[in-house]
Amino acid sequence: MKGFTNRRKRLKARARSKGYSCTISTKELRNLWNASVRCPICQNPFSQEENCSSARSFERLNASIGYTSPNTFVICRRCNSIKSILDRDGSTKMLEKYCVLGDLLLKWMDGINVADV
Ligand SMILES: [Zn+2]
Repeated sequence: MKGFTNRRKRLKARARSKGYSCTISTKELRNLWNASVRCPICQNPFSQEENCSSARSFERLNASIGYTSPNTFVICRRCNSIKSILDRDGSTKMLEKYCVLGDLLLKWMDGINVADV
């Protein structure tokens, strides 16, 4: 339980710095964490390692409210990173931009001169 007490402290500090509440209990965090087997977004199984991209991380479903029990869920760190750079209004444009950049990167890796594309 100690590890989850510390996780809750970190969540609470993060929430406070952003002006949100953190009412989810340590027990609820532990149960949520342990019940999560795979990321609900990318469907990849969670890693047991703490600091890899497929490790578990807590996220809020609705970003405008804090870490309440119904608003907190577990996703992988990779999806959490991607989510953090998206916003509701700009996500489509951002994704289109990344698709274009990803396509250019793949062409560049295949030896195609991307300046000619
Ligand atoms: Zn994921």
